[in-house]
Amino acid sequence: MKQKIGIHAFVWVGGWSEEECRQALESSRASGYDLIEIPLLEPAAIDVALTRSLLEKTGLEATCTLALTPETDISSTDEAIVARGERLLHDALAVARDLGASYLGGVIFGALTRYREPLAPAGRLNSMRVLARLAEQAAVNGMQLGLEVVNRYESNFLNTAEQALNLIEEIGAPNLVVHLDTYHMNIEEENFVKPVVACGKRLGYVHVGESHRGYLGTGTVDFPGFFRALRQAGYQGPVTFESFSRAQEIANLSGSLAIWRHTWTDRFDLARQARAFIAAGLEATDTQED
Ligand code: MN
Repeated sequence: MKQKIGIHAFVWVGGWSEEECRQALESSRASGYDLIEIPLLEPAAIDVALTRSLLEKTGLEATCTLALTPETDISSTDEAIVARGERLLHDALAVARDLGASYLGGVIFGALTRYREPLAPAGRLNSMRVLARLAEQAAVNGMQLGLEVVNRYESNFLNTAEQALNLIEEIGAPNLVVHLDTYHMNIEEENFVKPVVACGKRLGYVHVGESHRGYLGTGTVDFPGFFRALRQAGYQGPVTFESFSRAQEIANLSGSLAIWRHTWTDRFDLARQARAFIAAGLEATDTQED
């Protein structure tokens, strides 16, 4: 079993200047990770040539994620907002491709925000149309698109794996996959096993995060159950650590994610502990069954 273990760049940095890019990649490598997840909240702000050359230098693989905002919400019923969101997604897809990533995921189906109303049926249709076109373009580049299931305070659209599976079924694109995150599952799902098994081959990416988004193993997430379920589902994709603390403020995101507390201060200690925790968790499933 040789699964890639990844880390989200926001553990290291809050932006992507030359210095931040270098710091994120070198720190990920130094902490033993195989992969870095690069946020494309502002695709135009990414220096593709620099990032690519540092990826090659460090030997890290890259995946890309982003979250839409109320200004770029493709599940809106306002056509101008939907069009702006579609442009952003296509820009992000091009940057991800140019970075050599084969995966673009996140909250790409609607905005990451605290909605006050349920999703409008017309908004759902708008999102489906945009995602169908984006998936078609991604397929041209041999890329997968992941829909990250998030909790009710961050989306009124996809809160459970079942909802994501239904949406993917309706859109019917073979390169659309479910992206599960244990932090969100802890809030919305019955447990950490059933949704993973239900996704089966449709599971394309996972975020490993603790219930309070800090150190792994110090909250309420059932990691042994989750890792066993990954094995049961035949999941071979990356397992990426995601964590947030007030110690790393991220413009336009920390507020939306309600990151108010210092769940950690020493990011190297955090990253090394998480890397070891995930490796041990995956390894334990090697010796248990089969
Ligand atoms: Mn996540």
